[in-house]
Amino acid sequence: MGIFDKFQALAANRRELETLGIDPFGVQIERIISPTEGLINGRHTILAGTNNYLGLTFDPECIAAARTALEFEGTGTTGSRMANGSYSGHRKLEQELAAFYEKRDAIVFSTGYQANLGLLAALVGPGDVVLLDADCHASIYDGCRLGGAETIRFRHNNAQDLAKRLRRLGARAADALIVVEGIYSMLGDHAPLQEIAAVKCEFGCYLMVDEAHSLGVLGERGRGLVEELDVMADADFIMGTFSKSLGSAGGFCVSNLVELDLIRYSSRPYIFTASPSPATIASTRSALRKLASGSQLRQRLHDNAKHLHAGLTALGYTLGAPPSPVVAVVIEGRIEALKFWKDLLHHGVYSNLMLPPVTPNGVSLIRCSVSAAHTTAQIDAVCAAFADLRLTV
Ligand code: PMP
Repeated sequence: MGIFDKFQALAANRRELETLGIDPFGVQIERIISPTEGLINGRHTILAGTNNYLGLTFDPECIAAARTALEFEGTGTTGSRMANGSYSGHRKLEQELAAFYEKRDAIVFSTGYQANLGLLAALVGPGDVVLLDADCHASIYDGCRLGGAETIRFRHNNAQDLAKRLRRLGARAADALIVVEGIYSMLGDHAPLQEIAAVKCEFGCYLMVDEAHSLGVLGERGRGLVEELDVMADADFIMGTFSKSLGSAGGFCVSNLVELDLIRYSSRPYIFTASPSPATIASTRSALRKLASGSQLRQRLHDNAKHLHAGLTALGYTLGAPPSPVVAVVIEGRIEALKFWKDLLHHGVYSNLMLPPVTPNGVSLIRCSVSAAHTTAQIDAVCAAFADLRLTV
């Protein structure tokens, strides 16, 4: 068997898409115009699948901060913090994140994916047990695999199932790590975090919450579902990414545990990769200040999410969850979803196509994500495109 034989199914898949004239995974945004508009296939398109929740990618202050960093600190760090040293911005951002969450310390990673990989691979190894919500992101699964811990999946958003599985572990439960997300990216549903935190406290184990999609989105100060549901004290590790609400790239983990700093020295995805560029760090710091300083953008985001959710519900679409910045539309059948995605693009709306096996319960989804930067007219235009297509399905 040759090394490329395993790609046969994938190659057949690619051929099928070519025959259908659809390439949802190779879209090129020829020109990015604003957080909510781009030029795709030569036409002006509303971007409704960016996860740019607060729309900060074109924020003048974030751009100015990045520009200054670029000018004074250069284009890149050219190495890892462990080998080549940290720039002052790396450490300042960590201190600002820790202060924002009112936690002891933070570690910044080069991407959100690496934050999960680095944290989990260092934290849980052979002999340890991790309990994952079944719908957790691939980076969480990969981190557990890299660490080599025993991984147990519990039913999505089911605290009773989690408790049952912890009970079976006996004395080992006290050292187990539970991993959940705040908002789940596929359907936009929230974790029952108070129930999960209660289970964590009952068994005396550890809890990690991935707030990639809820940082800047939920909570009075934008600190995610942990803040919204008042379980900040029970979350031993809070992970987040800079690539969504903060409009840049990178990831982080905050914690009150003194051991957090040791993770830095044992985390291969932290040690063996280049640190974020000065411009990335500078725009992230600027975006974090914005995120923390007011709730106007958050309010606008939620208004837009409700508007889109109500519009699509009125059209008779089946949606994945109650209103949330991720609005996932369930489409019956994989081919139908592919065609729907393409037609939506022809109507000037870019969305994300999500197909099995990455989706929960094998459903096919057209996933929209809403931004505070969307105008009401843009949300109406997205609804109008869905209305046109409703007539044809
Ligand atoms: N966690 C979750 C829940 C995510 O959805 C993502 C990215 N989609 C990540 C982690 C990884 O973040 P990044 O894209 O910033 O690497």
